[in-house]
This record gives sequence, structure tokens and C-alpha cells, in this order.
Amino acid sequence: MSKALSPFERSHTVSCAVLVLFIMSGKQSRKSFLACLSLLVFSISESSASVSGECLADADCPTLTAPEQPIPSPVVVDLATVPAQLLSLAKLSDVESGPGVTRLIFTDSDAAGRAYVRSLMEKAELVVREDAMGNIFGRWVGSEPTLPAVGSGSHADAIPNSGAYDGTLGVLGPIEAIAALKRAGFKPKRSIDALMFTSEEPTRFGISCVGSRAMASKLDAVYLDSLTDILNPDHGSFRNAALKAGYANNTLNTKDMLSQCSLGDYGAYYDSFIELHIEQGPELEEENLSIGVVTAIAAPAALRCSFTGDGGHAGAQLMHRRNDALIAAAELSSAVEKFALDTKSDDTVATVGVLKVGPGAINSVPRTADMEIDVRDIDGERRDKVVSKIISRGQEIAKKRNVRWSHEIVNADPPATCAPKVANAIEAAAKKLKLSSKRMVSRAYHDSLFMSEVAPTGMLFIPCHKGFSHRPDEFASAIDIKNGVEALALALASLSLA
Ligand SMILES: [Zn+2]
Repeated sequence: MSKALSPFERSHTVSCAVLVLFIMSGKQSRKSFLACLSLLVFSISESSASVSGECLADADCPTLTAPEQPIPSPVVVDLATVPAQLLSLAKLSDVESGPGVTRLIFTDSDAAGRAYVRSLMEKAELVVREDAMGNIFGRWVGSEPTLPAVGSGSHADAIPNSGAYDGTLGVLGPIEAIAALKRAGFKPKRSIDALMFTSEEPTRFGISCVGSRAMASKLDAVYLDSLTDILNPDHGSFRNAALKAGYANNTLNTKDMLSQCSLGDYGAYYDSFIELHIEQGPELEEENLSIGVVTAIAAPAALRCSFTGDGGHAGAQLMHRRNDALIAAAELSSAVEKFALDTKSDDTVATVGVLKVGPGAINSVPRTADMEIDVRDIDGERRDKVVSKIISRGQEIAKKRNVRWSHEIVNADPPATCAPKVANAIEAAAKKLKLSSKRMVSRAYHDSLFMSEVAPTGMLFIPCHKGFSHRPDEFASAIDIKNGVEALALALASLSLA
């Protein structure tokens, strides 16, 4: 069933009609007319030769044959523009004196960051709208504004003392990509959106990707209301914080707020979506490659578990009388590593990131050991098998060591497979720009994980220095940024014509 036009789409049908009349009036230059004609021919040939279907691994993806694109060449992104904008945004930090950037969602610095992003969208003459949760959309209206659009965006919130590039590159990059396409005289068929997602980082509310989960209708209102706001632990909630920041005003309750942000059925709002991001790993830099074409996004399962023994005095309690909770946790930690290695895939990773021992005194036998375990994979079934093995081994260890055991799966989002048509468009763009590239997986979590639930989605990585991320010395070079934004521009252009 096709989706009814949103108010945003309806309001732009008129502006498109004006554009069409303008073209038909003959006042356009010969060059523009030819560009429009070639655009039409291209869109007809594209629609009869479109690639469809999902691909599960690199080997299954069809080899790319890049169609001749009627995209004016060159599409040029200035070397200094985006790096300078990234540094301007980085100055908007909750902790002005500290190292790096701290920008929690709905703080004053977040509001200033939003104003900055909106100002850049307006400068690029995009039509700006914000939804009930503060997701920002800057639209370049295409010649067929009723068609599902092409989107590109990321997040601008930053964990404490992090860097200037994570997320922000994917917010500012698309705005500059659109500006470059405009300068080159390109006219999109599908509208192209630059997006900024609300609250990708879990810092303030304990859950990641709040905005994109809502767009994908993957967030439960009762659950969202139950989350603690670390900046207002007694009375806070996501909706209260959104209201305070000037959003959610026209919503009845959290459920209504979430439903207002939903993008509807798969493919209804976006025909394709690309997230530009720093790699946050060392592969591209080590292999001296410019562009990473992401084929799959790993997703974590989070497991919280506890061993509880009886404790005792470290001197008086003889070894054979003990049921030490920490030793049980140590045994399980080794098993966690083993189960991940046993899959024989680099894509399976498992980490005991938290281990709290109680009562935590040198002269006390550990009574409690609380663990938090993160298991990630691009293969959801394989990841869940590792989680099951960890749980049953925990039970066995508890029995053997006479300690009590409890566990809870906190979260297990499904991993995402990127859409071949988006990966192909990114790869074709890199090829056209004569940039080296490779297909790879994203081991970190991104808004794209949820966007893949509502639209064919892909990610474009650029190298970052030594793979450093979420730390003040996170860095991407001006040339890598320029290359990434230019490749993004060409990919968006070709997808807008599809
Ligand atoms: Zn990010």
C-alpha cells in the first residue's frame, strides 16, 4: 500500500509544479535544457535496469557496472569548508574547558549545535523541518517531490570527552554534498534530505539511536518513559527533556510523539539512505584506502549477569569452604573469549566490559560479581548462539561452584545488511572520482542500523587517524573528508535519479 503524502511532501508539490512550468517556459539556458533532457533519458534507462533484492555477503553482491551519469562534472568540495565547520561545531561543548567535545542531547550546547546545523541548511537553501523528537531534515526538493526521497545523515551528540568527527561528519557532509551538486548544476529527481538524528549516543537516557529508532517505529513508549535521565534522575524523561528543548509540543503523550516521528512502511519515505561516517577503526588508514563501502552493520546483544556467593573473612575462611563469586566470574570471562573465538569469524566479538566485585574489600572473599557482557556480530543467529552458550556456561559454573546465578538480556537489536543498490552507488561514485575503496563491515553501531528497517540503506566510511574515536584526538584529514563528501554527493545524485 502506498503511503499518503506527508504535509512536507504536499507543500512541495506546488514548488515542483512551478519548477516544471519554469523549465517548460523556455526561459532556461540551452545547457540547462540539455541537462534536464539527459536526466530524463537517464531516469528512464535506470528504472528499466534497476538492481533489486538483498545481498547477504560481499561475494553475493552483483558486480557494479556504473551507468553513464548525467551528473555535471566536476562536483567539487572545497578542502577547507567541512573541516572548518566540524571545528566550529566542536566548540559547542557542555564542558568548555575539558579536553575534547561533550555534547549531551537537549543541553544548551546541543541547542546551539542544532541552530548551527539549521543555519547551514538554510544557507544551502534547503527546506528545514524538525519532527516531534528533534530530528532535523533539510530537504532539496527534487523534480518529482512525491517520490520517496534520498536521505543522508548522522548524529551530532557526543559522549563525554570525545572527538569532533564522530557523527558530525555525517551531519555536515550531506549539506556540503548538496551544496556542491547545486554548484555543479545538478537537478535531482527524487528530493534529497540532509538529516541530523536526535540522541544516537546512549549517554543521557541509556539507549542509543533514539531518533532513528522512532523513525523506524522500533521504540516502545512505555520503555522510553521508564528510562532514567541522568541530568534529572528524579523527575526526568525523554519527553520532558524534548519539551524543555522546544520539541514535542504538539504531542499528546510519548506514544503520540513516537508515532509522529515514524516514517511509515519500508521504502515509503526514503527510497535510499546513506550515512557518511569516520571508520572508527584502523583498516582504511592501514590499507591506504580512501573509501569504505559498508555491506553490513554489526549489532550488539547486551547481557547482564551476576554470581552471588556467601563471602567471608579472607583470613578465616579456608579455601575449601569458599564459594567465591569472582572466581566464578573469572571462569565465565574466559569462556566468553573462547565462545567468540570458536566461531572462527573476525565478525564475532565478545567483551566483558563491566565486572563489579562486592563487597570490594581486600580482606573479604568476594560475595557478588556483577558482569555486563557485550556480544556483537553481523550475523544475528551466530551472535545469539554465543549469548546462549554464555548463559548455559554461567549456569554450569554456578552449580559447580555452589554460587547463585541470575541473568538478563538487556538488548539484542538485529544486525543490518546494507542494500546492494546503495553500496553500488557508493562504489560507483568512488570509481568515478578515481578513489580507492573496499567493501567492509561496520563493527560499531549507527543510526543506519535502524534506517535499514525503513529504507534501503548503506554507509560510506572514510579513514580516521589510527582508528581513534570517542576520544579527544579523534581525527580525519581534510583530503579524506573532501573525498568522502564528493563521493557522497555523486552517490546521492545517482540515487536521486533512480
Ligand atoms: Zn557515530
